[in-house]
Amino acid sequence: MARIVILGAGLGGAIMAFELKDKLRPADEVVVVNDGPTYSFVPSNPWVAVGWRDRQDVVVDLAQVFARRGIALRPEGAARLHPSENRLDLRDGSSLTYDYLVIATGPDLAFDEIPGLGPDGHTQSICHIDHAEKTRTAFEALVKSPGPIVVGAVQGASCFGPAYEFAFILDTALRRARVRDQVPMTFVTPEPYVGHLGLDGVGDTKGLLESAMRERHIKWITNAKVTGVEAGRMTVAEVDAKGETAATHDLPFTFSMLLPAFRGVAAVLGIEGLTNPRGFITIDKHQRNPAFPNIFAIGVAVAIPPVGKTPLAVGVPKTGFMIESMVTATAANIAAVLDGREPKAVATWNAVCLADFGDEGIAFIAQPQIPPRNVNWSSQGKWVHAAKVGFEKYFLHKIRQGKAETFYENLVLDLLGIRKLKEIRTEAD
Ligand code: FAD
Repeated sequence: MARIVILGAGLGGAIMAFELKDKLRPADEVVVVNDGPTYSFVPSNPWVAVGWRDRQDVVVDLAQVFARRGIALRPEGAARLHPSENRLDLRDGSSLTYDYLVIATGPDLAFDEIPGLGPDGHTQSICHIDHAEKTRTAFEALVKSPGPIVVGAVQGASCFGPAYEFAFILDTALRRARVRDQVPMTFVTPEPYVGHLGLDGVGDTKGLLESAMRERHIKWITNAKVTGVEAGRMTVAEVDAKGETAATHDLPFTFSMLLPAFRGVAAVLGIEGLTNPRGFITIDKHQRNPAFPNIFAIGVAVAIPPVGKTPLAVGVPKTGFMIESMVTATAANIAAVLDGREPKAVATWNAVCLADFGDEGIAFIAQPQIPPRNVNWSSQGKWVHAAKVGFEKYFLHKIRQGKAETFYENLVLDLLGIRKLKEIRTEAD
């Protein structure tokens, strides 16, 4: 019998627990350590921030679901990992040992890297449900007292889809509130061009997103480095190809939401052999850390090198479908190791993203991540909004039921004619 501990019960960690439970021997123990007893569907946060969803619509109490599946939950959270001792210090002062560990902590949000950035400063965030609720209060104040807004992502960010998505959702919500005409919008991003997305573009994301922004009167500044934020005002340096400041923008705002750079969480930051300098877990193609082979990692916590060089740091996004392929590969590999076999499953890591505008949206699929690609596809339409709502409903249903199945994802990929992308390859194939 082995004890497998999963650190983090977000989008990746929660289904990791279900999938391991399905694949492991009945006597193996699955323990999930999370910050708190609930699961929260992060992709719905932009909707929470404009009042289209409430907290109870997108949050699931994990204690009951896990108990039903025979999974232990430790909601105390982890303070520090000691990989050479196969042990975690929990925040309540207790200690938890493991035979195998899956790190699924998502990101630490690096607001502190830019003065005045973030919910404790002067900009809003949609990265966490608590932030999204606070943003909703700021959005309601904006509707009552309209003024200029600045939306986007800062240098070093890696999650650009939600930044664009939130700009378009705000546009839709402000039009519905009949105040859009009083809200000049600027989108700021470190990407070298609109639609780069940390992937050097996918299909025609440049053309589609530029055109959608022009149609909605959203101005943009690319190669943008946010240097500081004060109440109602931010300074942005626009850099040239060498990264030198070419222009400085002083942007007044009544409301601003900027996605921060991500880094690894404090519990793992700086552990030699485990993380890269930003605290992301280094893994081989089997999701396994080379220095500590009984540690696997999935989701945003994983280190992925950037796609090519850009004047400002632009990270690679880790999206839901990609994370699910990491989960499936990791479950297969841990099951193999417990069975005395070599791990062979390799996640496809295809980047699939649905960016909702509130009434329509843009979808893209990149496989592999680094161009040239076998699949390099993007499209715009009302179906994207419907597909995103379907993704939310199906994913939350899956969590409430304690299931790891990928019916909806497979259906979408089937409809798009790219079913094979979700298959887990093995070296034997
Ligand atoms: P998370 O879901 O963030 O989960 C991490 C978990 O680890 C959390 O429960 C956290 O509490 C826990 N944790 C952290 N530290 C500790 C600790 N020390 N001890 C114990 N527990 C800890 N992707 C898509 O495919 N489609 C989308 O529409 C989409 N929208 C997004 C919108 C936003 C605003 C953001 C930020 C991302 C979005 N993504 C989307 C990207 C990605 O799918 C999500 O970020 C996803 O939630 C990442 O899953 P994860 O499991 O890696 O991390």
